[in-house]
Amino acid sequence: MSGLSAVPATVVRGGDKRYPALSRGFNQRWVAAPEYVRLVRTPEEARAALAEAVGEEPADPARTRITVRSGGHCYEDFVCGEDVRVILDVSPMCGVSYDESMKAYCVEAGATNWHVYGRLYPVSGKALPGGACFSVGLGGHVPAGGFGLLSRQHGLTVDYLYAVEVAVADEDGNVRLVVARRDDRDSELCGLWWAHTGGGGGNFGLVTRFWFRGLPQPPGQVLLAALAWDWSDFTKDEFAALVTAFGEYFRDHQNPSTAAGKLFAMLKLNHVSNGQIGLLAQVDADDPDGPRAMAEFIAAVDGRIGPAATKMRSVMGEHFVHLDVPRAMPWLTAARALGSGGGNRCGKYKSAYLRKPFTVEQIDAMWAYLGNERYTDYANRQALIQVDSYGGAVNRPPHPTAARQRDSILKVQYQVYWAEQDGGEDAHIAWIRDAYKATFAATGGVPVAGGETTDGCYIGYPDADLGDRRWNESGQSWETLYYKDAYAKLQEVKRRWDPCNVFRHAQSIRP
Ligand SMILES: Cc1cc2nc3c(=O)[nH]c(=O)nc-3n(C[C@H](O)[C@H](O)[C@H](O)COP(=O)(O)OP(=O)(O)OC[C@H]3O[C@@H](n4cnc5c(N)ncnc54)[C@H](O)[C@@H]3O)c2cc1C
Repeated sequence: MSGLSAVPATVVRGGDKRYPALSRGFNQRWVAAPEYVRLVRTPEEARAALAEAVGEEPADPARTRITVRSGGHCYEDFVCGEDVRVILDVSPMCGVSYDESMKAYCVEAGATNWHVYGRLYPVSGKALPGGACFSVGLGGHVPAGGFGLLSRQHGLTVDYLYAVEVAVADEDGNVRLVVARRDDRDSELCGLWWAHTGGGGGNFGLVTRFWFRGLPQPPGQVLLAALAWDWSDFTKDEFAALVTAFGEYFRDHQNPSTAAGKLFAMLKLNHVSNGQIGLLAQVDADDPDGPRAMAEFIAAVDGRIGPAATKMRSVMGEHFVHLDVPRAMPWLTAARALGSGGGNRCGKYKSAYLRKPFTVEQIDAMWAYLGNERYTDYANRQALIQVDSYGGAVNRPPHPTAARQRDSILKVQYQVYWAEQDGGEDAHIAWIRDAYKATFAATGGVPVAGGETTDGCYIGYPDADLGDRRWNESGQSWETLYYKDAYAKLQEVKRRWDPCNVFRHAQSIRP
C-alpha cells in the first residue's frame, strides 16, 4: 500500500487549489461542482467514505449524486455531472499483486492500464488484454468489458475476472465490503460478480479490488505497422474498396489460434480536412506466421486500392505512429507507442458493433459525411470514424459474462475532438450525430442490437444520445443497445445490491 497511508484521508473542497483539477474529467467537457472530492487509499477507507457520504444530507437539493472515479475517462458526465454532490476517487488505490489465498492476480480499482502493463508484465510475464490508453482506469474499464489490441488473441478483460470486491449500501444506508466470486455458491454474490463482467461502471457499488485468474502472456515481440493514404487520391469507389477490404479481411480471419486471427488493426477514417486516412496494425511476432500474416493483411487492404500508401503525417484520434515499414519491437514498447490517449481536450463519441462488413449504404453515408458531400465546409482534423478489428477470442468466451456482443467482427468508434478554448462544440457535436445517424439510417439512426449487420453499442463508450428520440428512432432503448438480453438480470442484481439507487447516472441500470 502507498507510503501515504499514515496521512489522514484527503478531502478536497472548493477553495482548495486542487479542487478545479479534481472536479473535472479527462474529457474537458465534464466539470462538476461537488461539495467535496475524497481520495481513498484502502478498501476500508473506501467503505467508510461511502458510508459517510450515504449518511449525509445534501446541502443543495440539485446536487445529490455520489459518484466514483478511477481513471476519470468516462465519455459522458456519469462522474462529473452538474448534479454531483460527492466524488469518491479511488485513484490512490492502484496496487498490483499476486494473492496466494485467491490464487489470482489482485489489481486495485484505481490502477490504470499502465499500472497493469508496467507492473504486472515485468514481474509475471502476463497481461490483461485491455485497452491501449495508459491512463484509463480499471474501475471503469473492466466492468464495461474492456478490450484492446490483444483481445482478438486473448479475449476481453472480463473473461479473466475471477472475483471483485465491492462496497455496497443496503436499504438502511449500511455500507459493507463484499467479495463476489465467479464460483460463489451464493447465487446473489455470483450475480454481483457477473454484473461486473460487462454491466458497466457506476451501477452496483464502489469497486475496490479485482482478482484475475488464468491471465494470458502477451507476445515477447510484436510487429507494428502504420500507414496512411492521402485523401486527395481517393474516389468514392476507392474509398468503398478500402472499407470493404478491411471488413472482409476480419470477416474471413476469425480463428485466434492463427497469426491472422491474432492480428489487430484500426482503420482511421478521418474527416477529409485531416488530409489522410490511416491504418495501424499489430501482430504477434513470436508466431512464426506473424510476418506473413501482416504482409498478407496489408496486401489485402492496400493492394485492393489505387492510392499509394505513405506515412502518417499527423495525430489520428488518439494515435500517431510514424513508421516506414512494419517494425518488430517488444510488446511493452509497442504498448507505449500506442498508449498516449490524446491529452487534454473535449470529445464526443459513439460506437457500433458490426457482425458483417459495412453495407454499400453505410459506406456511402460515411463517404458523404467525412466531408466529401456533406460537411464540406466543416474543418476538423480530429473528426473520425475509427474501425477496430474485433472477434477472434472475444467470440469464444470461456464462461458466460454480461458482455453480450460475442459474434461481431468489427467495433466502430465515431470520435470528434476539439480544444476547450476554441469552442465550436455545437458544430462538432452536429457532425458526429449526423454522420452516425446517416450511417445507420436503415435501422433508425443506430446500429440495432441483434440486427442483420449490427449488434448494438459498447457501454465503455457511452453515448447519452441513445436515450434521445431525435437521435435514436429505432424503437430499441439504450438498455437493449448496450446490454441486449442481459438487461433484466442486471436489473435484478441492481435491486439486490443497490436497492436505494445510490449509484446512478444518465444511463445507469434502473432498479
Ligand atoms: C483515451 C481513451 C481511450 C480508450 N481506449 C479504450 C480501449 O482501448 N478499450 C476499451 O475497452 N475502452 C477504452 N476506452 C473507454 C474506457 O474503457 C472507459 O471510458 C472506462 O469506463 C474508463 O474508466 P475510468 O475508470 O478511466 O473512468 P471513470 O470516468 O473514472 O469511470 C467510468 C465509469 O465507471 C465508474 N467507476 C469508475 N471507478 C469505479 C469504481 N471503483 N467502482 C465503481 N464504479 C466505478 C464511474 O462511476 C463511471 O460511471 C478509452 C477511453 C479513453 C478516454
